[in-house]
Amino acid sequence: MYKNLNDTLTAQQIQLVAVSKTKPNEAILSLYEQGQRHFGENRVQELLEKQEQLPKDIHWHFIGHLQTNKVKYIASFIHLIHSVDSVKILKEIQKQAKSNDRVIDVLLQIKIAEEDTKYGFDETTILDFLTTDWSNRYPNVHIVGLMGMGTFSNDPKQTRKEFQTLKKLFDRIKKDHFATVESFRERSMGMSGDYTIAAEEGSTMVRIGSLLFGQR
Ligand SMILES: *Cc1c(COP(=O)(O)O)cnc(C)c1O
Repeated sequence: MYKNLNDTLTAQQIQLVAVSKTKPNEAILSLYEQGQRHFGENRVQELLEKQEQLPKDIHWHFIGHLQTNKVKYIASFIHLIHSVDSVKILKEIQKQAKSNDRVIDVLLQIKIAEEDTKYGFDETTILDFLTTDWSNRYPNVHIVGLMGMGTFSNDPKQTRKEFQTLKKLFDRIKKDHFATVESFRERSMGMSGDYTIAAEEGSTMVRIGSLLFGQR
């Protein structure tokens, strides 16, 4: 399963983030031994334990809602935070990145799903924010793209529409604010149930858990 999936995604230049939340170290190591280095977690405590116990060349992605008071625990090692969903969290990431003398890569999480249970910026809020002098205010935060989660449904048309919305917003933001910034390039979209649609709609990074590790 892993090898086929990874080969298919690599051929499309899509990064596979193996979502290992709730899964034991042995399961992670088994993918690690097959070459996987990018893993995603959504709880700080669990991530800290795994980071301490597992090989140091793993690139850890934080994919869940992040509380301000927890940023300090992951700031020294986190590879990419997918879930920046407020200016408040951005401020805290700036503060903790600076005190660790690092620049932290982040994605802005955009609310694309119809259901209102999901975190994320709405379109106007993020467009307004990007017209401020954010790049001077957050020198230790490196915005490398956008993240979105589709509606949890079995209507592929709805999911496709949401991914198209994210891609369109990405193109607009790229053109208006990052035209010369090569590193602003990521669209983190697609999970076990909808990654093929996401790939067709321009995903550069998929976050896949149950398909690789089995149901949680
Ligand atoms: C759990 C989770 C995933 C992976 O979900 P699967 O359906 O198991 O592939 C992806 N993204 C986020 C934000 C998650 O919390």
